[in-house]
Amino acid sequence: MISPALEFDLKSSIRTIPDYPKPGIMFRDITTLLGDARGFRRAVDELVQPWAGSKIDKVAGIEARGFIIGGAVAHQVSAGFVPIRKKGKLPHTTVRIAYSLEYGLDEMEMHEDAISKGERVILVDDLIATGGTAEGAVKLLRQIGAEVLAACFIIDLPELGGADKIRKLDVPVRTLVSFEGH
Ligand code: AMP
Repeated sequence: MISPALEFDLKSSIRTIPDYPKPGIMFRDITTLLGDARGFRRAVDELVQPWAGSKIDKVAGIEARGFIIGGAVAHQVSAGFVPIRKKGKLPHTTVRIAYSLEYGLDEMEMHEDAISKGERVILVDDLIATGGTAEGAVKLLRQIGAEVLAACFIIDLPELGGADKIRKLDVPVRTLVSFEGH
C-alpha cells in the first residue's frame, strides 16, 4: 500500500484518453507522469520500495512502456536491465512464448542469455489489465531459469483480474494506483 496522498498525486498526473485505441477503452496515458520529474521519481522509488535492500540481479521490462520504467528501476536498485520484446525485434538467439491478449494471441521474446539460471528478477510494466502479458513474461522468465521475485506496475485495473492471476503464479504483485473499468 502507498499513502492516499501519494496515490492521489500519481493518479492526477496520469492522463486518461477515452475511446483510445478503440471505443470503450479508457487509455491510461503515463507520458504525463513521465514528464513530471517529481512524480516519475516518486513512482520509481515506490514501485520497488518493498525490495529495497534485497539482492536483485535484473529488472525485466515489457515493451514498450515497461522499458522506460524498468530502466529507471534498474538504475535505482543497481540491477541490470533485460528487455522483453514483441517477436522478431531482438537480434541474437531468443526464447519465445505465446501469450493471450484481450482478443487473440501474440508472442514475446527475450535473449536466451539475458538471464542466468537462478538470477533474481523483478518484472516491470506500466499497467496490468487482464494479466495476459505479464503472465507470459513470468513464464518466459521462469523458462530460462529466473527466480521472479515480484511483478510491479504503476497502474492496476482490478476489475480485469490481472494482478490476481499473477499472484496465483506465486509472484508477489505491487501496484501503485487503481482505476475502475477497462
Ligand atoms: P494485459 O495483458 O491485459 O494485462 O494488458 C497489459 C498491457 O496492455 C500493458 O503493456 C499495458 O501497457 C497495455 N494496456 C492494457 N490496457 C490499457 C489501458 N486501459 N491503458 C493503457 N494501456 C493499457
